[in-house]
Amino acid sequence: MRHEYHYLPLDHKQNIMSLKVTLLGTGVGIPQPGRSQAAVLLESELPLLFDCGAGTLLRLEQAGMGLEALDTVVLTHLHLDHVSDLLALANARYLSGLPGLDVWGPEGTEVFIKIAQSVYPNLDKMQVSVHELLPMDSFSVKGFDLFAEEARHSITSLAFRIEAMDRVVVYSGDTEACTRVAALAAGADLLIHECSFPEPFDVTNHSTPRKLGNLLCGVAIKRVVLTHLYPQAQEHEDEMESLVAELSGVPTVVGWDMMNVIL
Ligand SMILES: [Zn+2]
Ligand SMILES: [Zn+2]
Repeated sequence: MRHEYHYLPLDHKQNIMSLKVTLLGTGVGIPQPGRSQAAVLLESELPLLFDCGAGTLLRLEQAGMGLEALDTVVLTHLHLDHVSDLLALANARYLSGLPGLDVWGPEGTEVFIKIAQSVYPNLDKMQVSVHELLPMDSFSVKGFDLFAEEARHSITSLAFRIEAMDRVVVYSGDTEACTRVAALAAGADLLIHECSFPEPFDVTNHSTPRKLGNLLCGVAIKRVVLTHLYPQAQEHEDEMESLVAELSGVPTVVGWDMMNVIL
């Protein structure tokens, strides 16, 4: 199933009338080989970054994504493995003489930035504009139409339905397998869903393959990419993707850093 995906080298000079997804970071807060912390880059005419965990700046550079084009970030939630590189990105733009960063995120994002400003007074110069979101909010940014839904996690966390170029991508952020996110994904060309642990782990606040596969059974989704894997998932990737695919009936692969999906 891995080969159903298109792995293309990034070429920003191409005029792509499609939606390009790059998994910049498929890992979590614990270091592991080959998996940077959470970040997903979507590109239609303009790029839009979802989450910005530690390692994202390096991955952006590896993806050939210049700082000048990337001025907007959407956060699912404020856990460190999703925001660690956010201030670093704002600082990198400031140091490069670029205008400020637009940040869309859940309630608490404004306070998070304010606290950071109290530690780093020059953050004012970095000009971070914050737009706080509530579940069921819809908004448009950088040519993408977005709808936010409440995920099920240990803190307020949003999942997003993202539409551009007549394509639909849903990004779960961190969540237990929950019906709200499944409903959000109905009709999606691609669901990027977290699957933190393999079987037989039984966890709250995160997803595991059996519960996720059962949840997605009967939901019209063209393909699923699993992300946000803990080190415990190492060497269980094949069985995780097989189980989700078997139970859901949807082609499924485990994502890896720098994997591209062209829609
Ligand atoms: Zn989290
Ligand atoms: Zn996380």
